[in-house]
Amino acid sequence: MSAVLRAEGLWKSFGDNAVLRGVDVALDAHEVVALIGASGSGKSTLLRCLGLLEPIDDGQIWLGDEDISDPRIDANRVRARFGAVFQSYNLFPHLSVLANVTLASRVVHKRSKQDAEARALELLDRIGLADFAKAHPDRLSGGQQQRAAIVRALATDPEVLLLDEITSALDPELVGEVLELVRQLADDGRTILMATHEMAFARDVADRVVFLDQGVIVEQGTPAEVFGAPREARTRAFLSRFTG
Ligand code: ADP
Ligand code: MG
Repeated sequence: MSAVLRAEGLWKSFGDNAVLRGVDVALDAHEVVALIGASGSGKSTLLRCLGLLEPIDDGQIWLGDEDISDPRIDANRVRARFGAVFQSYNLFPHLSVLANVTLASRVVHKRSKQDAEARALELLDRIGLADFAKAHPDRLSGGQQQRAAIVRALATDPEVLLLDEITSALDPELVGEVLELVRQLADDGRTILMATHEMAFARDVADRVVFLDQGVIVEQGTPAEVFGAPREARTRAFLSRFTG
């Protein structure tokens, strides 16, 4: 049981729409897993369920050796062990970049203002945004905002990063700088589960690719296996849309 995050038999419905239909998934330490699948296949729901941002109907989830699907668990404490970044609107618009980045470390992890700010400035400096620390998010480009959102997710040293199509709302010329930061995090040994439509990036950076179709994991393997020699007809049909 070396998995950092593991889920078995996850079921989730919205009304009579069964969105996750018995999903098993696991992430090892330092593993980067790309979650691919058509729009509506359940990628966001899976990420949200894993991060306890959405209640599940059935199944179990372990973070380390703790059963975080146990209803008696303190969900806020568990959520603080994840870092999550979504497609857009990640930063609080009324707070400075620095306040955004330090908020969780101060409120959830009870770090002092001084400690939290020192750590935040170090992280912002690493991505070239230290000069924007006092600025509000609307002064930043979309790519800078997403990089700041990633840094905010990192500020609490999360065990797992959940990234949900973090480049899909960006203008094409801004995608590269965000993917480059994710690549650095992968090189740093972070444990990452990312839903993405960036197939070239997934092929390059992911250790494993998981293909979700209609709430079921149809196929998974290394990028070479899934992109190079997909076994399932549904995977081939999905991928053919990207290769044209
Ligand atoms: P993906 O991220 O792969 O595009 P989602 O997980 O967002 O897929 O959505 C899967 C299905 O669940 C869709 O049919 C969507 O309409 C539905 N869904 C997602 N979130 C909700 C919600 N909060 N309420 C009702 N239906 C939802
Ligand atoms: Mg989604």
